[in-house]
Amino acid sequence: MRDTNHREHSSPLYLTSSFTFESAEEARALFANEREGNIYSRYSNPNTDEFVEKMCLLEGADDGVATASGMAGVFGCLAGLLKQGDHVIASRSLFGSTHQILAQLLPRWGITTTYADTLNTESWHSLIQPNTRLLFLETPSNPGLDLIDLEWTGKFAKAHNLILVVDNCFATPWLQQPMEFGADLVQHSATKFIDGQGRAIGGIIVGRQSLIDEIRFFARHTGPSLSPFNAWLFSKSLETLAVRMERHCDNAEKVADFLHEHPGVEYVRYPHHPSHPQYELAKRQMKRGGGVVCFQIRGGIQKASLFIDRIQMLSLSANLGDTRTIVTHPATTTHSKLTPEERTASGISDGLIRIAVGLEHPDDIIQDLDQAFG
Ligand SMILES: *Cc1c(COP(=O)(O)O)cnc(C)c1O
Repeated sequence: MRDTNHREHSSPLYLTSSFTFESAEEARALFANEREGNIYSRYSNPNTDEFVEKMCLLEGADDGVATASGMAGVFGCLAGLLKQGDHVIASRSLFGSTHQILAQLLPRWGITTTYADTLNTESWHSLIQPNTRLLFLETPSNPGLDLIDLEWTGKFAKAHNLILVVDNCFATPWLQQPMEFGADLVQHSATKFIDGQGRAIGGIIVGRQSLIDEIRFFARHTGPSLSPFNAWLFSKSLETLAVRMERHCDNAEKVADFLHEHPGVEYVRYPHHPSHPQYELAKRQMKRGGGVVCFQIRGGIQKASLFIDRIQMLSLSANLGDTRTIVTHPATTTHSKLTPEERTASGISDGLIRIAVGLEHPDDIIQDLDQAFG
């Protein structure tokens, strides 16, 4: 962002709902899109613009729209691009509310979704319908950390003329840049690793100009805009994204190694752990494994509940991507709205525990996990 007359080093905060016009002519030109400038903070604001610009540089995107939450971004993207009669293909393991939008809300407007088996991408050819317009994916998936081959998917989307949207929340652009593999749009919940400190809710969608223009039209008029204050926080957070992600990954690798060796663990999932069934793919498309580890505890739901109740230092919460490590039991919390069949199809068993590894000393994290096995 450009300095103001005060030559401040840190970006100032523009808490203003509207902006003034120098003249009748300038106001006319701004509204006619003949001139660039701010009119009203539902449309644009210097703080949200700074956040969007930085995210576009990180993801290699043309332009973007910042939103009040990750979900406002997901909905803005789908509602902004799709129309009655359109068909979506989506990966099976999706963030809970994304699943609810596709399964419960979009059908009200005649938009249908088919879920794809992400471990067998060749089967996707048979899911294409004449009205299929968009492919929506999450990789790594939440909470199971399954991966989808982005290079293969980019080619598949292009061959079938589909808009490819990737929710890149778990990886962040520091570890994975889906547009390199042919994604048209990249979606983020900025609430997670982008803020990284558990302070604010927000989201962003970036990608190809023509698609962003359509999403911006939808967002301008329906109003899911990000607040300038949260945009300011996220912009500041991006200055530390790389160092935070490296430490998240260092700690997560140690936690994955510890769990892998523990007799109370049936299996551990971490993209860059050699035991991950898609380890080779993870090495190809992710720079490092990310900040989330999940594992299957021996002894099912009872043992999982005991484990959660014994946690002392770490936080029991449903969020992720915080400086502080968070332990979650997806089957009874974040993914409890899914039917048991949907949970099974998404690989969420009753003994699955998700650890969003934070930035504490790794020995402290491991010590707390170790004692929680009892
Ligand atoms: C949290 C999350 C979202 C939703 O973001 P909010 O900021 O909570 O609205 C979407 N996708 C993924 C993968 C998430 O983890």
